[in-house]
Amino acid sequence: MTGGTRGGGGRGDVGARRGTGDAGAEGHAGARRGTGDAGQRTGRVYLVGAGPGDVRLMTARSLELIARADVILYDRLIPDGALDGAREDAALIDVGKVGGGEQVAQQATNALLVEHARAGREVVRLKGGDPFVFGRGGEEAQLLRTAGIAIEVVPGVTAGVAAPAYAGIPVTHRGMSSAVAFVTGHTRPGTRGPSIAADDASSTVDSVGPESQPDWQALAAFPGTLVFYMGVRRLAGIASRLEGAGRPGREPAAVVERGTFADQRTVTAPLDEIAAAAARARIRPPALLVVGPVVSLHGELAWFQAGPLAGRTVVVTRARAQASSLAARLRGFGARVVEAPAIRIEPLRAELPDLSGFDLLVLTSPNGARRLLELCRDARDLAGPAIAAIGPGTAAALRAGGIEADVAPERAVAESLVEALTQRSVRRALVARAETARDVLVDALRERGAEVEVLALYRTVADSLDDRARDAALAADYLTFTSASSVRFFLQSAGAVAGPRIASIGPITSVALREHGLEPHVEAAEHTPDGLIAALLDDAARR
Ligand code: SAH
Repeated sequence: MTGGTRGGGGRGDVGARRGTGDAGAEGHAGARRGTGDAGQRTGRVYLVGAGPGDVRLMTARSLELIARADVILYDRLIPDGALDGAREDAALIDVGKVGGGEQVAQQATNALLVEHARAGREVVRLKGGDPFVFGRGGEEAQLLRTAGIAIEVVPGVTAGVAAPAYAGIPVTHRGMSSAVAFVTGHTRPGTRGPSIAADDASSTVDSVGPESQPDWQALAAFPGTLVFYMGVRRLAGIASRLEGAGRPGREPAAVVERGTFADQRTVTAPLDEIAAAAARARIRPPALLVVGPVVSLHGELAWFQAGPLAGRTVVVTRARAQASSLAARLRGFGARVVEAPAIRIEPLRAELPDLSGFDLLVLTSPNGARRLLELCRDARDLAGPAIAAIGPGTAAALRAGGIEADVAPERAVAESLVEALTQRSVRRALVARAETARDVLVDALRERGAEVEVLALYRTVADSLDDRARDAALAADYLTFTSASSVRFFLQSAGAVAGPRIASIGPITSVALREHGLEPHVEAAEHTPDGLIAALLDDAARR
């Protein structure tokens, strides 16, 4: 597992655009502004900081702008899930390194920013940490101003403050340190000073200019904490130069790797031993070096606990629209999450019949429940029949719309629902569900003499995986499946699965897996996303 990658969950490669791309995006931007003033059509570029890694540290403003952007150009080093709130039709463009290859040249990024803004789009340029701290945000801002494009800068929590904070290291502390310096440990090849972390996978910036070459004497004499960005591969050089310039070799130092991510690690040692200690711990980018007496507080103040899934990569194969809450919960337990949606939910045009003639309405999935609620004018449309949900997840989706199911078995399989309904007399039932679904329920109700109508509310269609998502998924620790159709579509798109352990939400999904020659290692006892997570935690704890 390399540092600095986005867990393979990136949506689309360089230049790959989701959704409508040009005309559609323009339509949106124009519609929203709605001024009709052709002269005012240039969009705005928001230079937005995404924070250091923990998605919960993103600012309210950043989430708001991501949610309404037409185009988002993002760096590799942004939090997992940072783009979850983006519009389904927004163009998401990865301008970070692609598959370990070249980073998109700054000039190409600049050109894209200008092009999209000129086309009247709302553009978010999303950068790790703070956009103006070693992120070339200042240069992009200058360029945009020169091009006459309006900008807004949204600061982010910078790694130099956040990673130490999550490691229990206050960068200033009364009586210990009254100043803090942020320094880059990375300079342009061929110049003096600490040079070239060209292979630093985290560097989402190009080399910085000669003006930023450290003056080692001044840095050594700096009366406070030193925080080095982009210096992992140069630790030994940085430490020895600081020491050579007079910084005490016994001064406490720390390296914080993937600060604020669920798998954050901290290594501490005196300055003259920190490089060796970091090498022993196999510290990789992104990481920061912190030098100063404040590092001694780490022992007392360290608070960050790695979650039970820290260090594990878990793949979520369900449709994107449903993936994010499962993904967020997995991340909350420390997992690295790869989103590899193999299916997409496509709502069908449907008209809700007059329900007064039915004595039972059955919902067979949370998707169906949500779609049904969309079709209702309000709750009165559902007055009349008893309402049955196939399981707790569907009941919860109904509850979110203010509807309490009369029947909701614990186990979300049709057989359990049939059993739960045995006590009721049903004359006429409406089963609202996916276009193609198992007929167990419909058959069972008919056998009991009920007249059954089926209302198809949505269909699931295959969503093809890009190479990166597929590779990341196949190299993961766990693959999770929450429906038979996600099994089918995922395996269609991904091909043979060998390494990862396989976690299934329940028996129907497990049958689909077995049909494809895969025996699930984990099957949830409760057939809900929470049940799946519980089973996964259980399995992970035993391994
Ligand atoms: N604009 C960013 C910094 C970009 S430079 C910010 O304000 O945070 C990239 C460098 O930042 C990395 O090489 C690493 O040194 C540091 N960095 C970024 N995220 C980090 C993290 N989560 N933990 C530790 N260091 C991080």
